[in-house]
Amino acid sequence: MTPISLEFFPPKTPEGVTKLAAVRQQLYALKPSFCSVTYGAGGSTQDGTLAAVQAILAEGVEAASHFTCVGADRASVLAKLEQFKAAGIRRLVALRGDLPSGYGGFGEFRYASELIAFIREATGRQFHIEVAAYPEMHPQAKSPQADLQAYVEKVKAGADSAITQFFFNADAYERFVNDTRKLGADIPVVPGIMPITNASGIIRFADSSGAEIPRWIRLRLQSFGDDTASIKAFGLDVVSELCERLLRVGAPGLHLYTMNAATAPLEICRRLKLD
Ligand code: FAD
Repeated sequence: MTPISLEFFPPKTPEGVTKLAAVRQQLYALKPSFCSVTYGAGGSTQDGTLAAVQAILAEGVEAASHFTCVGADRASVLAKLEQFKAAGIRRLVALRGDLPSGYGGFGEFRYASELIAFIREATGRQFHIEVAAYPEMHPQAKSPQADLQAYVEKVKAGADSAITQFFFNADAYERFVNDTRKLGADIPVVPGIMPITNASGIIRFADSSGAEIPRWIRLRLQSFGDDTASIKAFGLDVVSELCERLLRVGAPGLHLYTMNAATAPLEICRRLKLD
């Protein structure tokens, strides 16, 4: 059975919290191996992350908190790790994060690899650590080779598994896995899958995160204009076929960026016969 994991973001309002609880109940039909909750780099939404992760654990489902180190110092990271442990959290997605505008500097951790090394030093094997991987290269990387090496450093520092940025080109994933294995990084690399439900949203999101939307997908999406039914139908075809290809080339699971909605993830898994 292909392991499925699900990603949520922390809601900002009480209505959002109630709505997300209902979305999770629908998505638990997929029997996720874990659910993760994003973390606002530099301070915003961090309490919401903890609350959402605790709610998932209370529902009897394994949960991971994302955790960014940008702007943090060792003392604040240690305090946060204690808070995670006390809340029963045993799985982290350890990230650098991006500096929010107006923030002074990076703090005591320059890269995610430094955070991972610090977590291992401070807490041994108490946490399962996931890291981010970029099959199409992180937007700030100095070069493709430097980016692959930066990923390898995260694995050497103690990462257990990786989740990728979303992408629509299966070749990029295959190449990333092969190249990083050759460099000695042999942890599972689970592709992050972004459903397409909204043309302008996905184009904006891809532009900001360095993911490439192939020309043919971009043009087809733009050609649908306001016809949201056609966008959703096309998006489901494209993303389900991408998942099929990824599983055929050996992806060890799928991590679905749910955007706090159940319909597209459920339909993708139904088409893949993973429901
Ligand atoms: P790093 O691995 O540290 O890499 C950052 C950059 O530095 C890269 O360009 C890399 O090539 C370079 N680099 C790393 N090490 C070195 C070195 N030794 N020398 C020179 N260059 C180096 N953001 C959030 O704010 N909250 C979240 O919850 C969140 N969740 C995410 C989940 C996933 C699965 C992914 C893929 C991304 C997520 N992000 C999140 C976004 C992430 O924080 C940004 O992409 C951020 O810019 C990089 O974080 P990182 O952990 O990948 O950084």
